[in-house]
Amino acid sequence: MTCSIGAITHDDNNVVVDAEKCNYCMECIPVCPTGSIDEWRVVNTAYTLEDQFGFEELPEQQDIDTGSSDEGGMDAAIAAMLDEAHSGAGGKARAPVSAAKPETNLYTAAKPVVATIQGSYRLTGEDSDSDVRHIILNFEGQPFPVLEGQNIGIIPPGSDDEGKPHLPRLYSVSSPRDGERPNYHNVSLTVKREAGGVCSNYLCDLKMGDKVNVTGPFGTTFLIPDDPEARLLMICTGTGSAPMRAFTMRRQRTVGAKSGGMTMFFGARTPDSLPYFGPLSKVPESLLKQHLVYSRVDGQPKEYVQDRMMQEEDEVAEILADPNTHIYICGLRGMEDGVERAFTNIAESIGQQWAALRDAMRDEGRYHVETY
Ligand code: NAP
Repeated sequence: MTCSIGAITHDDNNVVVDAEKCNYCMECIPVCPTGSIDEWRVVNTAYTLEDQFGFEELPEQQDIDTGSSDEGGMDAAIAAMLDEAHSGAGGKARAPVSAAKPETNLYTAAKPVVATIQGSYRLTGEDSDSDVRHIILNFEGQPFPVLEGQNIGIIPPGSDDEGKPHLPRLYSVSSPRDGERPNYHNVSLTVKREAGGVCSNYLCDLKMGDKVNVTGPFGTTFLIPDDPEARLLMICTGTGSAPMRAFTMRRQRTVGAKSGGMTMFFGARTPDSLPYFGPLSKVPESLLKQHLVYSRVDGQPKEYVQDRMMQEEDEVAEILADPNTHIYICGLRGMEDGVERAFTNIAESIGQQWAALRDAMRDEGRYHVETY
């Protein structure tokens, strides 16, 4: 009904799209009440209507001929980058059983979607060396269904040293699926300006109304459970807080405050450089128990997230022992070893072997790592 050009038809089994007619407006995706049009394959040659009516299941994704432009290669590179970022869990990551089904690869390097900058706000103190910004993208009616924990690609303009167009850079979304405010359907990112960084400087310099090329969404496993009984243990450093913000807002909108429902260990150099320090101070403990730790405050010993986890051993042990617990670790790759050691000690204190518990949690879609 939404398709104004009549590209969509169906029989009793299948809803099919006539590639000859389809203009790729994507208007059918968010409104499909049956979920029928919620997955597709990127193909070299479109399937005929006859092929599609014959499907009992969607065919496997084919290898894509990327031609000379290597744009398909770019998207494959992104998938490989995410697999690498998620490898810290020590095996093949799995989505939580109750997670919503994510859309992926809606927009590619060859066919990005153009978003408009709706806002860009500095999250860190003016005196802080660290310039971290909250950047809001508006897709202005173009469908961009994204779940908390997924990533999007940003294509910086221009070309690299070899004269090739820049690869898209990945950022986690920091807004919940329905937008910064419910039903606004905009998307926010948490971006730290890196010295010499091509994409971070490009993004941090964008002004309201500027346009940006976006690919994605990407990622199928670093997602939150939709089960209201699930508990979240979130461990992050710096801008690794982006998905944790999205998770917290999603749960606030759907589950509400629930003692013990969400606990966060969040590390930054100083309060001034901790992204979302101000807004976090307004989040009640009944929604989110916060352990904010700092590594470079004058006159105070250096503290990392894993140090605080050890200090709060009993609290972490109680969370670990709960079969409803889901763990999320996001941020610097370097934190993994320390966090792993903390979990090993804490698990031992309750007579559990961490490696076995972690592997079981990962297989059940309850243990997630995204580190760079
Ligand atoms: P940062 O400011 O460099 O570091 C944050 C905190 O982590 C500092 O207190 C730092 O302490 C501490 N830290 C350093 N080594 C550690 C270790 N081995 N164990 C525990 N804590 C340690 O962080 P950032 O520059 O924001 O980087 C965050 C990371 O998150 C990046 O790798 C980024 O790629 C990744 N990430 C970003 C996003 C996003 O959407 N923007 C999403 C996912 C992941 P000291 O420096 O004082 O030692």
